[in-house]
Amino acid sequence: MADDVWNFSPGPAILPRAVLEGAGDAVHEIGGSGMSILEISHRSRWFDEVIDEAEQGIRELLAVPDGYQVLFLQGGASLQFSMVPGNLRRNDAGPPSYVVSGSWGSKALAEARAAGDVRVAWDGAGTGYDRVPAPSDVALEVDPSYVHMTSNETIEGVQWPADRTPNAPAQAPLVCDMSSDLLSRPADIGRYGLVYAGAQKNAGPAGVTIVLLRDELLDAIPEGNPAMLDYRTHVRSGSRYNTPPVFAIYVVSLVTRWLRTEVGGLGVMAARNEEKAQLLYEAIDGSEGFYRGHAQPDSRSRMNITFHLPDEDLGSAFLDEAGRAGLLELKGHRSVGGLRASIYNAMPVEGVRALRDFMETFRRDHAGSHPSRTATTSG
Ligand code: PMP
Repeated sequence: MADDVWNFSPGPAILPRAVLEGAGDAVHEIGGSGMSILEISHRSRWFDEVIDEAEQGIRELLAVPDGYQVLFLQGGASLQFSMVPGNLRRNDAGPPSYVVSGSWGSKALAEARAAGDVRVAWDGAGTGYDRVPAPSDVALEVDPSYVHMTSNETIEGVQWPADRTPNAPAQAPLVCDMSSDLLSRPADIGRYGLVYAGAQKNAGPAGVTIVLLRDELLDAIPEGNPAMLDYRTHVRSGSRYNTPPVFAIYVVSLVTRWLRTEVGGLGVMAARNEEKAQLLYEAIDGSEGFYRGHAQPDSRSRMNITFHLPDEDLGSAFLDEAGRAGLLELKGHRSVGGLRASIYNAMPVEGVRALRDFMETFRRDHAGSHPSRTATTSG
């Protein structure tokens, strides 16, 4: 990222400057090998060190309990939408149950349906995916094969509070798509049977998908999946069954190093993320209806702040003027419209303050001259 821009992209997303510099150095040479990170073998000792650091970094930051695998896979979070049902559906249990709080959960559900019978324990489509459910609204079957949720819905900007999950029956593993909030806050991994995340928000570049998986789930995986789609293949080979995305995993190792040594862990990171998100939500709530948040206040994401302006012309003007001020990639997803500011770990508070200040100036300039555009309700 250049010095005079702030990148609010939902993903691939902003990375810490120290990480970009480290990645640049490694493109020249990695670890005294005389070779570029782009040239080394995935069977070399240099890569062994890289993948070990990435794995240990994730284990340490998230305090991953004993008895979990950490895998680095390909195919994005989208391939996990299929791998999860392919590996975790059980003949001796009922169909899996999906809690759908946004567009990504809905895509995960569609893939699971393609593989067989599925139950929907809750679906927020009726209110435009603006909230996560209250635990009592989630209708789980007695014995689902597993329960699937999405901790942060990147498109709608809807996030589960860190300490809340559906009350899955004890024997049913909880599976969580954490693509857009893994490593942004502490998480109690022991609650989940399986966690997956495409790396390209908080954890690294596109091309690698992180999977945390409880060992005991491996025993019940059915036979017959293609080797690449069977978690056991990747466990047995230490994520090196075929050629892994060496460079992407290297960048993940640098991100974990940055989080451990420069940030000081996920508790500090979460507090920073909270502070950043509050700056923008305060600007929305204090705008007398000029900005309208998409998510209900108790379901608001700390990662993706989604909001609308009074009309589309103003939305376009906002994007143009913001772009000229170096505030980039703020357009909302086409399914929700409006604007979306993604403020992942690597976005410094200065970048968020710059956006907040811009929002206040824009409102003064435009609401004042168009008083009819100041809505009275927040809809
Ligand atoms: N789940 C969530 C929550 C996401 O934000 C995304 C990507 N934006 C995906 C899944 C799909 O990830 P990928 O592009 O890595 O397949």
